Amino acid sequence: MKRIGVFTSGGDAPGMNAAIRAVVRTGVAAGLEVVGIRSGYEGMIAGDLIPLGPRDVANTLQRGGTMLFTARSKEFLTPEGRAKAAANLRTAGVEGLVCIGGDGSYRGALKLMQEHDIPVVGAPGTIDNDLYGSDYTIGFDTAVNIALDAIDRIRDTAASHSRVFFIEVMGRHAGFIALEVGIAGGAEVIVLPEDPVDPSVCAEVIRDSSRKGKRSSIVVVAEGGYPGGAQGLAEAVKTRSGIEPKVTVLGHIQRGGSPTAMDRVLASRLGAAGVEALLAGKRGVAVGQINDEIALTPLEEAVQQRKDINRLKYKLAQVLAL
Ligand code: ADP
Repeated sequence: MKRIGVFTSGGDAPGMNAAIRAVVRTGVAAGLEVVGIRSGYEGMIAGDLIPLGPRDVANTLQRGGTMLFTARSKEFLTPEGRAKAAANLRTAGVEGLVCIGGDGSYRGALKLMQEHDIPVVGAPGTIDNDLYGSDYTIGFDTAVNIALDAIDRIRDTAASHSRVFFIEVMGRHAGFIALEVGIAGGAEVIVLPEDPVDPSVCAEVIRDSSRKGKRSSIVVVAEGGYPGGAQGLAEAVKTRSGIEPKVTVLGHIQRGGSPTAMDRVLASRLGAAGVEALLAGKRGVAVGQINDEIALTPLEEAVQQRKDINRLKYKLAQVLAL
């Protein structure tokens, strides 16, 4: 193998640059040429490829977003689109790919490999942490810390005014961010897609908190935790109890900003592991970190298996809200 490609795809996540940098520098250190593919599968189809050397990735470690841009590609969902992408890779002499993205990007990479025999390795880049095969995904820790900072600020004003705040964090299908932020921010209630909440029960917990002498209540709601998110739940609680929660939707601020140390280190390890896997002749695998060790999982398994939240952490959160 002489030349490999690297790209970021799907939802952007802080730390993607650190992963690209690691791919480039590990690749070059091993005698490979590295090509960056811009805008994910869109750029692969358009032939938007750029050579990347160690200096091209200088000063990117601390930057959020992705220097290679990212995109969603409808054309890549078609066999014709993938054939175009594969032809461009062959013309450019790209013999292996590191795909940094979420489960959709993994599915695309897998198809490219199956249909066109191009070795691919996935590295988990998504703030949602919902990818099987790694304890944590690149960007998750940064998103959690950004959301936590916002919650701490809201707690100050909530406590001063004796208010109830419903704060929506990202997570349409998975509650990892909500759970982590809920524990770290001392939420009275955490609402996860994995555990549907009854608004009457939620209202009762809030009333009970007030009876116990709490001056404020914070309810952390994952986007997909209730129909209509935090706003939907706040309205349901209000109708049933007369409680009038304030609602804050954190939205995309959770995706931006400088990656935390944890994300930079994770991304560096996983980017390097991606190159090492390709060099070792592995194909169709996702790199991950499990119990602080690098782990490889077949891409097929990574996209099929569902990663569950840690139920013990969830129980702990309920106890600590006493
Ligand atoms: P993420 O990687 O963050 O989960 P998406 O689900 O949007 O993001 O996937 C990114 C891109 O991967 C899509 O825009 C599409 O081009 C490609 N992709 C997703 N699913 C498939 C699939 N089943 N087959 C081929 N390509 C896919």
